[in-house]
This record gives sequence, C-alpha cells and structure tokens, in this order.
Amino acid sequence: MKPLAVDTTFLAELRRDLHTHPELRFEEQRTAAVVAQHLQNFGYMPHTGLARTGVVATLDTGRAGPAIMLRADMDALPVSEAGQVPWASCNPGVMHACGHDGHTAMLLGAAALLKADPPPCGKIYFVFQPAEEGGAGAQVMIDEGLFDLFPTDYCFGLHNWPGLEAGRLGVRTGPIMAGGWRFAIRITGKGSHAAQPHMGTDPLTIGAALVQEAQLLVARRTDPVIPAVLSFCIFDAGTTDNILPETARLAGTLRALDPLVLNELKDGLQRLCDGLGVAHGVDIDVNFHQPYPVTVNEHRATQIARQAMQALEVQLGGPAPDMDIAPSLASEDFGFMLQKKSGAYAMIGNGESHKLHSPDYDFDDSIITRGVRYWHQLAHTCAAAGHAA
Ligand SMILES: [Zn+2]
Ligand SMILES: [Zn+2]
Repeated sequence: MKPLAVDTTFLAELRRDLHTHPELRFEEQRTAAVVAQHLQNFGYMPHTGLARTGVVATLDTGRAGPAIMLRADMDALPVSEAGQVPWASCNPGVMHACGHDGHTAMLLGAAALLKADPPPCGKIYFVFQPAEEGGAGAQVMIDEGLFDLFPTDYCFGLHNWPGLEAGRLGVRTGPIMAGGWRFAIRITGKGSHAAQPHMGTDPLTIGAALVQEAQLLVARRTDPVIPAVLSFCIFDAGTTDNILPETARLAGTLRALDPLVLNELKDGLQRLCDGLGVAHGVDIDVNFHQPYPVTVNEHRATQIARQAMQALEVQLGGPAPDMDIAPSLASEDFGFMLQKKSGAYAMIGNGESHKLHSPDYDFDDSIITRGVRYWHQLAHTCAAAGHAA
C-alpha cells in the first residue's frame, strides 16, 4: 500500500479560517469559493452553484465500478460565539456551532488524498452542501438535479459528535437521526383585566394547558419503545402584570425515529389544538413547517461503512469503532438523500467538547486526520465491495 500523508497542519488552518468566517444557510459564498479554489488546486474541476452555493467535485477512475457520494455540510448557525479562541467568528451573531467547518475541511482533505491514491475503479463525488441547518439544502440540491448530474449508487455522510471519544467512529443500521417537524401556534382569545378573567378568554392559561397536554401525546399516543420527543421552545404572551393578553404565541418541534410515529404526533397536536380551541372558545392556529425525514441507514451501505471503520482501526489503532451507535433525536437533512439512495450516515467523536449548537462549542482539530482517512478508506472499501458484487 502507498504511504499516505494527510497534511493536518494545512487542514487545521483551513478549518480555523472557515470558523473565523461563518456563513448562514444559502449564504455560503465565501465558503464555497474557498472550497472550489482548493478543489482546483488539487486538480479537480468543481461544479458550482447547485442550490446556490453547493459545490461538487468528481473523481472518475475511468474504470467501471460503484459511484459513491461523500457529503459535507458547509453552513453555520445564528449563534453568537462565546469562546475566546484566536479563530473565533468575526461575523457577529453567526457561528460554526455545529462543526460544519470541520466537516468541510475533512472532505477537502479526502479529496486531496483520494486524488493521490484513488480506488481502482468507480467514481467519487465530493458534495459540499449548503443550508443543512433548517434550510433543507440537501433537498434543494436534489431538486436542482444532484442525482441526475451525478448519478450515484451510494451516499455517505459524517457528523462530529460531542460526548463520543475523540476520533471514535460509529454507525448503525436503520434509523440514526430523527425525522421532525417544527410547529408555530397562535392562540387568539380575548383580553381582559387580570381581576376579571371571566370577561375574556385567556390564551395564556389555555396555552399552558396545551403545553402540558401535548406531553400526553408522547406518553400515551405513541409506541413507548419507539423514541419520540415533543418540545415547546417558545411561549410568548402578555405585556404587563395586570392585563390578560389577547394572544399567545408558542413554537417548538416534534421528532421521532419512525415516520408513522411522527405523523401520529403531528396529527395529535393538530387534534389537541382544535379540541382545546373548541373547549375554551378561542382560535388556535397551528402551522407545521420544515419537515425533515428520518435518516435511515441502509444495511449494505452500513456494512461497507463498518468494514471501512474496521480497516482503519487495524491501520491506525486508536478507539475501536462503535458498530451499533445509539441513534439521536436530532434531525439531519441527509435523510432526504437517503430517501432516494442507499447510504449510511456515521458519527466521529468530538471528545468531551461543548454540545452542538452551544455558543462555547468548537470542532476538535485532532480528529481531522481520522475523518479524512475514514473517507479515503470508505472509497477503497466501496470499490472492493463493488468488485465482489
Ligand atoms: Zn446542527
Ligand atoms: Zn450539523
């Protein structure tokens, strides 16, 4: 086997540069330009502009074999960075709080490494995707022809995971991330004096009942062995302490690892709002938006990912991979890709860092090499599996 070099200093500097210049969903202009420039430097001719800022590079070995897509997300979050690292965000109110800077750097490293040491057959598409955070950028790329322009057999994703040992890889067959809906609720009642509640219809008290009763949907309307969660995250009502307000605004999210449970929760919340509205004589309007599907790992693709992780453990040592990692009720728009193609979404430990989306979070640069090597090994394992098929 050829000696393999990953330029970790270069990739860590690249990651920190991206961290300093975070961009929100569909606004990743600088990030996309940096990605495209590096890909050109590595000898690729990147396709740009898919889903506005998406970038795709193709490595064609010229020999028949499996076509695989390796995907990184590029967008940051509307979070104000609290950490004091020298490479902290210079874009106020915007931060790489989910480590997509690290994902982008790892996939760029893989593009460089695979150019130097390609698999013996097949094609590799390196997909740099915009707007994972609430923008369903994966779906927009698909709508704009991702799989027509770049026909692929498998899609693979990789996300850093705080709380998992640094550099430890993990994957599982079946659902790995939850499907979800966001919801916004507006209760319109009738305001009144705080001492005369009977003269109005108080949306605040009805809203409080709604928050409580919605938990019964999880406790009593869904199969207890299938993970599900329903969380209210906004409850906004009133202006002062002696007037009952006219309206209340609530918002939140519901998640489940099974699409049927997800539908039951959504229908149940709609029924609850309708019923409470009738019972208390108020208007309760519910708006469901931002549907994300369950991210479901296909068995054969997951086996390939497992083989790659095992091979990497033999080559590099280090933490043994978790071959049946626990799923999460976080959501991920990679699920849209796995609705169309076989594939597997994996985790790489970010160590004992702050949690994802925390203003103190930072990506651990020490895991970049393992992430790059995982992508590289996965491409080779896929090619070998393709020969065997
Ligand atoms: Zn995130
Ligand atoms: Zn993320």
